[in-house]
Amino acid sequence: DRASYLLGLVGEGIAASLTPAMQEREGRESGLEVTYRLLDATERGFGVDDLPALLTWAQRLGFDGLNVTHPFKQAVVPLLDELSEDAADLGAVNTVVFRDGRRLGRNTDWSGYGRAFRRVLPDAVEDRVVLVGAGGAGVAVGYGLLEQGAVHVSVLDADRDRADACAVRLAKRFGDDRVGVAGDLEQALADAQGLVNATPVGMVGHPGTSVPPRLLRPDLWVSDVVYFPLETELVALARGRGCRVVPGGGMAVHQAVGAFEYFTGRVADPDRMARHFEEL
Ligand code: NAD
Repeated sequence: DRASYLLGLVGEGIAASLTPAMQEREGRESGLEVTYRLLDATERGFGVDDLPALLTWAQRLGFDGLNVTHPFKQAVVPLLDELSEDAADLGAVNTVVFRDGRRLGRNTDWSGYGRAFRRVLPDAVEDRVVLVGAGGAGVAVGYGLLEQGAVHVSVLDADRDRADACAVRLAKRFGDDRVGVAGDLEQALADAQGLVNATPVGMVGHPGTSVPPRLLRPDLWVSDVVYFPLETELVALARGRGCRVVPGGGMAVHQAVGAFEYFTGRVADPDRMARHFEEL
């Protein structure tokens, strides 16, 4: 058991990330001294090819762990000594723990989404879901939903190959009968209780919704992974229709909860971290 931790986030364009504040505050509240640095590839001028050296130097400089985000989550996988089964299934790591000279790869994106989802809609964990967006976030969301008990996930993406690849990855873990690729959104939604947007549409700079508003019926729950802004156009429209909603902030908080626990071996307080996130 240690009292102080040096951590960091490796990613592109992460200057506005709330993760350092969340992790350092949770450390203080837990009686730990957590220092959490942003290692912004855009600002510091490094890329995927520099990742091996970055990991070596982070270890030499005494870092205890790193969170990893776009575009490094897949590239980091072959550089690790050990992978959790879920991270191997996803082919992506967002949390690297340095322990006894070894690099351990973990993924708290899927579990973060799953935890956030269950807290808001505990009665909906077995529903049939349409997942729009099959990139890194989409695969993690699908994994989180299926792990929670979703009966079926239908994947859609503007890029059909990405939808196929996501469905293959999920089906390998959860079985062909629980995962499919949907050709037609309206048809897929007719048969579903829930909808998740895992595309960047709705983010600052990407206005709009990935789903035509007319398809948002009141008995559908609607979730978004986008959390800049916290209330996306999709979430606002759905809320206005009377749909139950799961906004993207919950995933952001709960991936940090899981990462804190991997880094420190301590249990984090999810309510406290969520309150702090809302204050930021
Ligand atoms: P990505 O680029 O890997 O994947 C996005 C996918 O969406 C692509 O496959 C693309 O083809 C598809 N797409 C784009 N527009 C579409 C549309 N109109 N209809 C259908 N498909 C469309 O990106 P990613 O890493 O998966 O991230 C997606 C979003 O999730 C980003 O906005 C990111 O900020 C957010 N995110 C949030 C959290 C969180 O904690 N809440 C975590 C990770 C990512």
